[in-house]
This record gives sequence, C-alpha cells and structure tokens, in this order.
Amino acid sequence: MLTNPSDIAIFSRRESEARSYCRSFDAVFTSASGSELIATSGTRYIDFLAGCSSLNYGHNDPDMKRALIAHLESDGLAHGLDLHTDAKAEFLTAFDRFILQPRKMDHKVMFTGPTGANAVEAALKLARKVTGRDNVLAFTNGFHGVTLGALSATGNSYHRGGAGTTLNGVTRMPYDGYFPGDTDTADFLEAMLNDRSSGLDAPAAILLETVQGEGGLNVASPEWIRRIAKLAKEHGALLIVDDIQAGCGRTGGFFSFDDMGVTPDIVTLAKSVSGFGLPMALLLVRPEHDIFGPAEHNGTFRGNTHAFVTARVAVTKFWADDRFQKDVAAKARQMTAALEEMAELLPGSKLKGRGMMQGLDVGSGDLAAEICARAFRDGLIIETSGNEDQVVKILAPLTTDEETLQRGLNILRNAIRRVTDSSKFAAE
Ligand SMILES: *Cc1c(COP(=O)(O)O)cnc(C)c1O
Repeated sequence: MLTNPSDIAIFSRRESEARSYCRSFDAVFTSASGSELIATSGTRYIDFLAGCSSLNYGHNDPDMKRALIAHLESDGLAHGLDLHTDAKAEFLTAFDRFILQPRKMDHKVMFTGPTGANAVEAALKLARKVTGRDNVLAFTNGFHGVTLGALSATGNSYHRGGAGTTLNGVTRMPYDGYFPGDTDTADFLEAMLNDRSSGLDAPAAILLETVQGEGGLNVASPEWIRRIAKLAKEHGALLIVDDIQAGCGRTGGFFSFDDMGVTPDIVTLAKSVSGFGLPMALLLVRPEHDIFGPAEHNGTFRGNTHAFVTARVAVTKFWADDRFQKDVAAKARQMTAALEEMAELLPGSKLKGRGMMQGLDVGSGDLAAEICARAFRDGLIIETSGNEDQVVKILAPLTTDEETLQRGLNILRNAIRRVTDSSKFAAE
C-alpha cells in the first residue's frame, strides 16, 4: 500500500483548496451500506447528508448493485455516447411507465452531461431558443449549480464570486415568503410583468425550486407555485422547475410538484435520478419545446450506461406503486415531531422544509456548524444550508428505517442540547 489509508495528510497536501464537505468530516470513509458510512477507524456514521440527496435510496441498494454487477459481468456497455443501448431502452421504458404516464406527462426525456448544472444550462438555453428571449427570472436564495449559466441564476454571493466574470441574463425576484408578514411576492411579480415600464424585460423562463435545498429549505406554497405557473403562461415564458434536489421522492412524491396541478414546461433532474449515486442528469421537456437540433446541446457522457441500469431498478423498485411514498410520508412526520422537540430546546429556532427535506433554522451559522460538529463526534453526518448556513438540514436516505432515523434524530437532539447547555454555561 502506498499510503496509510487513514492518514488524511495527502488531502491537505495534494487536494485542491476547493474541497469542501470533507473539511467538516474529519474521517476517511471506506464503505457504506443503507444509511451508514464506515470509516477506516471502524467508526460507523449515520448518514443524514446522503450525497446531498444523491443517495435517496441509500448506499449500495442490493437490487441496484446486483443489476450493475450483472451488467458489468456480461460486458454491458459502460459508456455509449448517446447510442441506442438496451440499458437506455429499459430505463426509458420504466420511466415512461412508472413516472411519466401515471402523471399524464407527455414530456420528452433529454439526457445532458451528467451534472445538475449541465441540465440547468440546457434548460436555460432551450427556453431562450424556444422564446427568442434572453431574460430569465430566478429567485432569491435559489441554487442551480455553478457553471456560468446556472450560476447566473444562483443567488449565493460566495458562489457567484467564483465566476470572475459578469453573470448575465437573469433577473432576481423575491421567492415565496421572502418578506416578513403577508406580502405575497407573486403580486409583486405580477405587477412587474404587467407594467410595461417596470423595466423588466419579457422573460424566456421562470426558473424555480419548490423547496430551496441549498437556500435554507424555504418552501413555496402550492398556491404561489400555481400563480407563478399561470404568470409564466400568460407572459409567454417557460416554467422550469429545478427538481434536482427536491425531486426523486425527497419531498414525498417523485416530483416535488406532484399534486399541485402544475405541469412545468421543463423539469431538471440529477442527483438521485440514477438511484445509486452515479452521475446522471436529464431534462423533461414538453414536446412542442423539444427543438434542439441533434447534438446542439451535446455531451460525451450523456450515455452513462451504468447509471441507466441502476436508474431503471430505482424507478421499478420504488415507484411502481405508492408504498414507498406512504413510507416516506410517515418518516417525514417522524422527523417533524422530532424537530418540534428540538425547536423547544432552542428558543427562536424554526422548522424548515417539507417531506424528508426538513431542518431547523437555528438563527446563526456558527451555532449550526457547532451543532453539526458535535453530532459528527457522536456518529452522525449532517450539514447546513441557508444564506448564513444557519439551517441544520436533514437529508437522510428515504429508505432509512424508522429505528436508524430515530437514532440519528436523537444524536442531533443531544448535540443541540449539549451545544445550548455549554453556551448557557459560557454566558454565566
Ligand atoms: C445540486 C443542485 C444543482 C447542481 O447540481 P450539480 O450536479 O452539483 O451540478 C442544481 N440545482 C439544484 C436545486 C441542486 O440542488
């Protein structure tokens, strides 16, 4: 062996300063199964990060793993550009049958390069091509990725600062609930769009997350989303729902907008769409907007065949009926109950999110970081989000069993208790 695998010096010596999550979790991980990660030290950690919602079905799901091993053993294609492959046909067939048809969605499936940001780039380009307009409306605290087009739509100033160039073509609008009190930000948007002297250029698209994952688990109400959808239609703009984090079951349904009565013109999916943590991203596009020419938005890795294999299993195993969805709803309630108790320990804190995408706004980034660090010492991996990183965010795999979920929630509660006790102590 070249290095002692538990020695982390190689990372600080050789890996770029751009590394991030690893800084919070001072361990070297070797294996993972279900909702647990295991470090070289032998320590087992409960995973409430789940690859930032890329592992909604847990680590190394046995059925996906078996299908992938069988595919490898039979010399199935690993890489196929966008050639017709059996793996792609089987994924599309399952996705059509279990996801699109039951929702009466007539969308075409467009595979992009395998990152979420690439799917967002494609969505923005397509909306501009369809409408012949440049301006895109995106919302405060939205996160859509960090390539230049997607970054233009991303709110966070730290990420935007990395661009080193002008970020063009996007006008920011206030998200639902952005102002305290009863201000309905859809009224604001409506007034701006209807006033020909508001200075707002006619938009190609309105781009939104129904729950802002990185932005602090801000939830838009179904009524607000329906109004935005209506405004988009009235003003000739495409509605793009970025479901990269909130989709694939995270908020309960397969799509975060299920049962809201809206049909987005474009939906972006990535993170958990492969089901196994393999890179894969796609757009769903209403057929009338499916106007890119062949390879106009291309990408060498549009055919990550391994991802098609596991994605097909994910869709078939979890979405053929509503059992999984009901199970997620029950665990979401378990999370809410536990978070309500935790909120009582921290006066002024607020519950955020919905489905299995919930957390606690503790009011300060430092406090949230301290809670997460404490939880890590007790065997729980959990991260923060929000404009000040002030939201402790739970993204446990949706397949986490009730008992493991409760153990994780208990660790979190104890971390909050200890951190608040010690700060009280320090203040005395
Ligand atoms: C993570 C994320 C992206 C970017 O995906 P990458 O794969 O990191 O490029 C875009 N939109 C949302 C909502 C995300 O959560």
